[in-house]
Amino acid sequence: MKSILKNLTLFIVSIAMVACGNHQPKQEAVREANYAKAPRFKLLVYFNDHVELAHQQFSHQGIDFYQGLTVGEGFIVDTTQTLSKFTYEQLAEYNTIICLNTSPSRSERELFEKYMENGGGWVGYHAAAYNDVRTEWPWLNQFLGCAFFKCNNWPPQPALLELDVKDHPVTKNLPSEFVAPASEWYQWQNDVRNEPDIEVLVSLSPKNYPLGLKDVVYGDDFPVVWTNKRYRMIYLNMGHGDVGYTDATQNLLYINALRWIVSRDPNGNPFDV
Ligand code: ZN
Repeated sequence: MKSILKNLTLFIVSIAMVACGNHQPKQEAVREANYAKAPRFKLLVYFNDHVELAHQQFSHQGIDFYQGLTVGEGFIVDTTQTLSKFTYEQLAEYNTIICLNTSPSRSERELFEKYMENGGGWVGYHAAAYNDVRTEWPWLNQFLGCAFFKCNNWPPQPALLELDVKDHPVTKNLPSEFVAPASEWYQWQNDVRNEPDIEVLVSLSPKNYPLGLKDVVYGDDFPVVWTNKRYRMIYLNMGHGDVGYTDATQNLLYINALRWIVSRDPNGNPFDV
């Protein structure tokens, strides 16, 4: 009710400004009208508190990060640790599900697959793609293209990342290389580049090798951000610890990724006016 009143107030103020002959530039008038349309879409942040502390930290900071982006009520962010309490119809109201530190539980997999196969949006971080012989979820393998987890560096440390594609909506305003805050970087058994539907957008630079002090990664291809073009999805490997939102460049990458996924809603781009 509060947001409806606020939107109504903005609308009335906009009308009043026009009626009073306020000589604002035309562009300003358009912007005022856009405010009345907010919120434009809904996001659902899915996370799990029964995981290691570093993954909890990233998810809690992630909730703050995404809720912080709703300033002005541009969109709505709901959070849940239980996807199964949603019906498919309720879930389908969300433009995008953001998995900050986990993938859906066994009982939630069918619902999530239906959501994604019918045009749902997904932004997944770090452990949301974790997948080994115990996972027993072939659909997730083909969705991500990376197969099983292979290894990681330890301890968490910063890494030089480089863009694979520079003119993509997710990367076009980023430097061609940047140092990302400390994370535990995952390497995978399957090189996603071999998958025809996968497009790698950002990789860990070979200049980092050897990467790690206790557990050392010595080489091989190291994709970090990619999309499966058969779905409205993007995966970002960052997500371990409490510094995952401390770098402006990386935060811009997160926002670009979100905006790109949200904008491809099959019901229409919510950012179009
Ligand atoms: Zn981790």
